[in-house]
Amino acid sequence: MEKFVYVDNSATTKLTKEVLNEMMPYLNEYYGNASSNYLLGIKSREAIQKARNKVANAICVSADEIYFTAGGSEADNMIIKGIAMANKDRGKHIITTSIEHLAVLNTCMYLEKEGFDITYLKVDKNGRIDISELENSIREDTILISVMFVNNEIGTIEPIEEIGKIAKKHNVYFHTDAVQAVGNITIDAKKLNIDALSMSAHKFHGPKGVGAAYISENIVFSNLINGGHQECGRRAGTENVAGIVGMGKAIEIATKNIEEKENKIRMIRDYLYKKLLKLDCRVSVNGNFENRVAGNLNVCFDGIDNNNMLLILDMNGICVSIGSACNSNVAVPSHVLTAIGCDTKRASSSIRFSLGDQNTLDDVEYIVYVIEKNLDILKK
Ligand SMILES: *Cc1c(COP(=O)(O)O)cnc(C)c1O
Repeated sequence: MEKFVYVDNSATTKLTKEVLNEMMPYLNEYYGNASSNYLLGIKSREAIQKARNKVANAICVSADEIYFTAGGSEADNMIIKGIAMANKDRGKHIITTSIEHLAVLNTCMYLEKEGFDITYLKVDKNGRIDISELENSIREDTILISVMFVNNEIGTIEPIEEIGKIAKKHNVYFHTDAVQAVGNITIDAKKLNIDALSMSAHKFHGPKGVGAAYISENIVFSNLINGGHQECGRRAGTENVAGIVGMGKAIEIATKNIEEKENKIRMIRDYLYKKLLKLDCRVSVNGNFENRVAGNLNVCFDGIDNNNMLLILDMNGICVSIGSACNSNVAVPSHVLTAIGCDTKRASSSIRFSLGDQNTLDDVEYIVYVIEKNLDILKK
């Protein structure tokens, strides 16, 4: 029984054939610069516009509110720094959470050094912020609330609708890092009162190195990257045409039949948890199953070192993660697990399985088989 099972879809996802096929012409025959005024350039321009419409449709906003970037991290930086710099005369207070992705956390820490005041909201044991604590944190000089849609380590879905209402009531901009949500959850950004949102193509079977920032037309923001007039002068640089085309195709596929996909993934995820609970080892979930994205299962295997577990799984062709991908080379416990009250011991016994639409019940059987077979070694 030798298989390859990829259950690390929160780190990245596989580029699908359909997406690759859509991209290919823009990597060879249609190589025109989208700013050029002959047919070859216009082809690229039109392809970008088509992709922009698809991205906008996926989150129910207008196409001229979408700016393509080089990924989720850039979108987070563009939005947070852009809003902070352009609105600092109104106030220098920003509210975020203690469990954000580093692209948001480190951007906020950078702004702190630049004289901004940041409130990092605590979360409960399931990773959710407290809405009244958020509302009580709003001050006269608060300009921005930045709360992630779905946490990348424990899968918690934050109370986005309630946050949107509060932000609107207090006239504060609301940004959400939706990198783990787009393609997994249906999003209507306008209905949720979201003013700005970040996403990344490689998290929904698109190519790496391309993402988008949705920034509502009523928002004043400064540019992160200055230069040419691309993206309405808001994000300079010759466009990554093939990447953008791939993102458009990928988001179109990912947002089709989301509920059906969610149900299938949740069923497989729950099956995996059920099987893990039967192992001769104490297994428990970090956070709970309420308000959690369908594919995430972050579990603690009592008394087992997660590095050893990762190694054994890898030797058997199974890809999982401990902490988040960006943190996993560092020997400090994950800031997310720490924030929900896990001690170092628990954090160092925790594994994140993140399932996607390509996973099957057979994959689950194989994962459980491999763990069971190696349980004695793992316990030592
Ligand atoms: C992956 C991820 C990012 C970073 O996106 P990149 O495209 O890899 O830069 C940001 N936020 C969250 C929640 C993520 O999961």
